[in-house]
Amino acid sequence: MFRRFTPFAVAKNVYEIDISFFVNLGIKYVVCDLDNTLDAYYQKEPSQQAIEFKKKLDEYNITLILTSNNVKNRVKRYSDCLGVSYLYSCKKPLISKVKKYLVKNHIKKDECIIIGDQVFTDVYFANRLKIKSILCDNLVSKDQFFTKINKFFDKYVRRYLKKHNKLTDWREL
Ligand SMILES: [Mg+2]
Repeated sequence: MFRRFTPFAVAKNVYEIDISFFVNLGIKYVVCDLDNTLDAYYQKEPSQQAIEFKKKLDEYNITLILTSNNVKNRVKRYSDCLGVSYLYSCKKPLISKVKKYLVKNHIKKDECIIIGDQVFTDVYFANRLKIKSILCDNLVSKDQFFTKINKFFDKYVRRYLKKHNKLTDWREL
């Protein structure tokens, strides 16, 4: 049961990951969650570290795509500022919206990696798509109401995975 919630790797946050890690895996698309992964949900525009991260990916010809369950206004404003493609109201862990996008844009799954802060909406979502994933810790402790409910489940699963040595730090790969 827990296999579907097991990420390819874990990281403290998206910003500690060396770009060479993506390059070595042949990654061309970083499909990243927005809220509490790149920035806090109340951060309306990209932080300096998000801008730097995008810049570094650009240098290696890796495309950043944001996938969020949040509403259009929130995701559009942030993504436009950052200059990246985005998908809003994704309803993750449902995969249909993202799957359609990948097919339409001829993006191969093995050239993607999914990064997020939640086991259910990011890792389970990635595993359903058969795409590698990186599970991050929460960037900030503050969350939106609906996320709080998910987080209860999240903590339980993370504890289980950790206990059974299923969480591999990206540096160990
Ligand atoms: Mg999130």
